[in-house]
Amino acid sequence: MAYESRDGLVTAVDRVSFALRPGEILGLAGESGCGKSTIALALPRLLRSPAVITGGEVLFDGTDLLALDDAAIRAVRWRDIALVFQNAMNALNPVLRISAQLVDVIRHHDKVSAEQARERAGGLLDLVGIGRDRLRAYPHQLSGGMRQRAAIAIALALRPRLVVLDEPTTALDVVVQREILDELKSLQRELGFAVLFVSHDLELLAEFTDRIAIIYAGRLVESAPALPLLDGAAHPYTRGLLAASPDLHGRRSATRGGLPGTPPDLSAPPPGCRFADRCEKALAVCGTAEPVMLPPPGAAATHVTACHLYPQDAQEVHA
Ligand code: SF4
Repeated sequence: MAYESRDGLVTAVDRVSFALRPGEILGLAGESGCGKSTIALALPRLLRSPAVITGGEVLFDGTDLLALDDAAIRAVRWRDIALVFQNAMNALNPVLRISAQLVDVIRHHDKVSAEQARERAGGLLDLVGIGRDRLRAYPHQLSGGMRQRAAIAIALALRPRLVVLDEPTTALDVVVQREILDELKSLQRELGFAVLFVSHDLELLAEFTDRIAIIYAGRLVESAPALPLLDGAAHPYTRGLLAASPDLHGRRSATRGGLPGTPPDLSAPPPGCRFADRCEKALAVCGTAEPVMLPPPGAAATHVTACHLYPQDAQEVHA
């Protein structure tokens, strides 16, 4: 995946490969601009110009979504793959009542009467904790948390098998954020959909997800089940991210560690490991050879990382 610029294509996501199983919650984490939202939008082919998909596959039940024509991919969106964005106001139409927006989505995809669609819309608002009595509200008449819940109701309207959450609660205060995530998790258990959860907040991902994949400068650098990743991160970048995050359950500390430097310019990425310029542990080989994803010594096969600190003499394992 790349972005068109005056100087040509800038590759934003490169050779990222991962699997998401039915009913699994996978977190995608990294600094701003690392490519995590680009990946999330690419899955249902919602990237807009100047972004372009330059290659690869998105296999959903064995079908490559990148090979579908426009009508076929529109049928997959919302029915099979739904999205919730950071700011619900961008997803909701400000001049339409919530009921109209839900009914539109339902009737566009399912052959049901207006009455049946309205009944389903009411059930969806009940499901996300708003209550059907707000069906006739306009988005501006709802609080930020309620708007985000309405956006979740629209996303779940067709019972999708995959819900992509792109920083869904970042704009909300921590109490509302917690309430919405708890509700999302119980809905996920009840309805069984898989989730791709994009966030820069590793502590939040560790609580909400089954597995976390770390992206740095457009590349996957580590992937592991959530708690082993938190307790035993192997990649120096993941460790730096964790050191820079407030620990909600540990001892209070007046200062947090940080990550020195900035990510590389993706229009001319460095050879070897892209983190080398910022890595305190860099070896001579790091500047010339790209590390591949492999389990570090002693880790389970489900924990893989791309780093020259660990043996690189096996065939790459996909996350
Ligand atoms: Fe650091 Fe080298 Fe590992 Fe990259 S490959 S994270 S530079 S030790």
